[in-house]
Amino acid sequence: MNFRDDFPILRQKVNGRQLVYFDNAATSHKPKVVIDCLSDYYSTINSNVHRGVHELSQKATNAYESSRKIAQSFIGAKSSREIVFTKGTTDGINTVARSWAANALTKNDEVLITAMEHHSNIVPWQMICDLTGATLKIAPISHKGELDLNEFNKLISPRTKLVAITHVSNTLGTINPIKEIISTAKKNGSKTLVDAAQSVPHFSVNVDDLGCDFLVFSGHKIFGPTGIGVLYVREQNYKDMQPFVGGGDMIKKVTFQKTTYNDPPYLFEAGTPNIAGVIGLSAAISYVQNIGMEKINSMEEELLDYATEKINNLKGIKIIGQAAKKASVISFIVDGAHPFDIGTILDQMGIAIRTGHHCTQPLMDFYKISGTARASFAFYNTKEEVDYFIKSLEKAMRMLN
Ligand code: PMP
Repeated sequence: MNFRDDFPILRQKVNGRQLVYFDNAATSHKPKVVIDCLSDYYSTINSNVHRGVHELSQKATNAYESSRKIAQSFIGAKSSREIVFTKGTTDGINTVARSWAANALTKNDEVLITAMEHHSNIVPWQMICDLTGATLKIAPISHKGELDLNEFNKLISPRTKLVAITHVSNTLGTINPIKEIISTAKKNGSKTLVDAAQSVPHFSVNVDDLGCDFLVFSGHKIFGPTGIGVLYVREQNYKDMQPFVGGGDMIKKVTFQKTTYNDPPYLFEAGTPNIAGVIGLSAAISYVQNIGMEKINSMEEELLDYATEKINNLKGIKIIGQAAKKASVISFIVDGAHPFDIGTILDQMGIAIRTGHHCTQPLMDFYKISGTARASFAFYNTKEEVDYFIKSLEKAMRMLN
């Protein structure tokens, strides 16, 4: 089945060539239903939520709260109270860092992450460790790009208050054995945070099944708008969380002497939220649910296998990230050529890929490289596009060598 017609942007030419968009790990395109949903919201509703008695405000509130239920059922949360709308993955991780970890950690505690984390799952923990005196521990990976579970099991200890880990690496494509990791962490008494930015767009993720305490993802990587994301909080954790952004909507009553707070999730959604973004995200979720995550996953797996084989057949090119289980990402380096130059030449041929460190500089240090070229796929990509990409890549390699 071909879903390309759902995505108006894919019809365009770039640099005189039909666009081939292989930068889906950075952000994915929006189907017409999402674009229309945003336009309809602004054309027919556009009112603030939770405040007005008037008709449009009630419509906005209903749409906003229905979206929370759609997000809840999408990730298998028990209650819509466990869904906090954020600006995205980064904002979600920082919310957990400031609302939970800043209060929960002391100087004898440790936060355990992995060597393949995105900066947004490193820097907030460094900041919290600076604040609380806790220590950041890093679980190593193998050269293939798989988490070293033996070392992980050695590093986890009674001091480990939090295990924060990416489900899928945005640079390597590695799918981590997240359920096993969460189970080990739980037995150890550690809380768990899953960075699902790169998993939720590609396969079905269920927080109840995983058993995690916190899970975050971004709307814009799952065919929704930018500036919106979801933070899942297992309800029992709310009792250990303090708000860190104060303002409207997160309060019950304000006097100059004392303010009482609203209940979660509103406690963590201070100010006018990204209403259009929330509604647009729910349209995107409904869109992928209609197709089916299993179908999306199998289409993308086929594409990943196809492209991996083709790249492996090229001489002078090396894939960075050769884990047994991968999702939709191929990072590579070319002998004698800078990734930036590869990306620039491919762009001239209408192909959008990503080059650089992909916000994983420590991972680049581990591989002793400055960056990679990265092709990342969505279900709307095709084998014909992969063929054209390979032909163009060969041309680029010839030009640079
Ligand atoms: N984690 C991972 C694994 C990611 O791929 C990204 C985005 N590249 C982020 C976190 C940060 O997401 P955002 O910029 O949407 O906050």
